Amino acid sequence: MSVLAINGGTKVRTTLFPAYRVIGEEEQQAVAKVLQSGILSKYLGCWSKDFYGGPQVQAMEQEWAAYYGVKHAISVNSATSALYCAAGAVGLAPGDEVIVSPYTMCASATAPLIYNAVPVFADIEYDYYCLDPQDIEKKITDKTKAIIVVDILGQPYDAERINQIAKKHGLYIIEDNAQAPLATYHGRYAGTLGDIGIFSLNYHKHIHCGEGGILVTDNDQFAERMRLIRNHAEAVVENKGVTNFNNMIGFNFRMTELEAAITREQLKKLKWLVEERRKNVRYLEDNLRDIPFLSLPGIREGCEHSYYIHAMKYDEDATGVTRERFVEAMQAELMPIELRETEGVKIGLGYLKPLYAQPLFQKKTAYGNTSYPFSKDVHYDLGICPVCEKVCSSETIFHELMRPFMTKDDLDDVLKAFHKVADHLDELR
Ligand SMILES: *Cc1c(COP(=O)(O)O)cnc(C)c1O
Repeated sequence: MSVLAINGGTKVRTTLFPAYRVIGEEEQQAVAKVLQSGILSKYLGCWSKDFYGGPQVQAMEQEWAAYYGVKHAISVNSATSALYCAAGAVGLAPGDEVIVSPYTMCASATAPLIYNAVPVFADIEYDYYCLDPQDIEKKITDKTKAIIVVDILGQPYDAERINQIAKKHGLYIIEDNAQAPLATYHGRYAGTLGDIGIFSLNYHKHIHCGEGGILVTDNDQFAERMRLIRNHAEAVVENKGVTNFNNMIGFNFRMTELEAAITREQLKKLKWLVEERRKNVRYLEDNLRDIPFLSLPGIREGCEHSYYIHAMKYDEDATGVTRERFVEAMQAELMPIELRETEGVKIGLGYLKPLYAQPLFQKKTAYGNTSYPFSKDVHYDLGICPVCEKVCSSETIFHELMRPFMTKDDLDDVLKAFHKVADHLDELR
């Protein structure tokens, strides 16, 4: 019998997994053309024709809007910046409350603070990790202004129920879709389900351009306010004839022509890249179903997942082996992904803490040494989102070994590792 690698046995895999190399000839040529043009960014931070950016930026935005069937696509330099633009555009004001998720990348929850509004955490759904509509309703007060929903791990939020709640209470929905491009909800693309949708183009996302983010909306006013916030609003409003000065302190969130040119090529590859993920997940799942202590990820009815992460639940009670020890054993059998060697083997425990456990919220210190804008009425004590705390501290396993460019042999190594560890749990007890 083979011995687990964690106990000195032979690893299932001794070579790196293939890189997620989505930047190719097309991007190189697109970038070369921009370099030859000599114009790497054409933005002007004043009211003029160039207020909206150069030819690559504007063409990319039009292509993105057409692709997603929305009226406006607005590019910025990251999804974090996009969240700030959206928070400003909907008119968040000091003291407003915004319902956010504790189980996501930090910016989805901290964005309201930029406008001195207060994040209020609602719990997540056990099956899907997205915001739980029932708990959202419990957290609404007369100060609530918006909900930042997150299509987490590639799964669309419960748009029907949450949109209905938003409508009933007059709240805006900002949809953080950084992790779920081309996920669908009853035939509609995630990212287009709320008032404003957000996409990320950072290196770890389905498609990337270096650093970048896109906002989409059908609302003309929000679109124009986001364009102002992206590019020095305060210097532009007067000559542009803007009359609503609310949140019109601008930033420089502009994307360069280089990134826009790359994004145009990346968008053409997106469908294939998402389909490959789905295909790889199907293959893995077909061959993992026989492991009784793993639960495969649920998909919301009427939805298609886009698998930023393939998350499983692990049953410690069934194995008598902790989740940590199981994952360490898996890591010992496998290898990192090429180009991401420093990150180690890409199977892990996922988000380990709810976001409200961060010092920002525990110490309620955001600006200087004051507790402003946090409120006495909003609490961040452990226990406020029990489902989130449970999936953080036990059960959940994240892995990324389903990305495109994994061959059948590569996927078979992943499966071999799961089965080897499953067959040798006694060595871990
Ligand atoms: C990656 C990510 C972001 C931030 O994206 P950047 O482009 O790196 O700023 C925001 N929200 C979620 C859910 C993300 O996964």
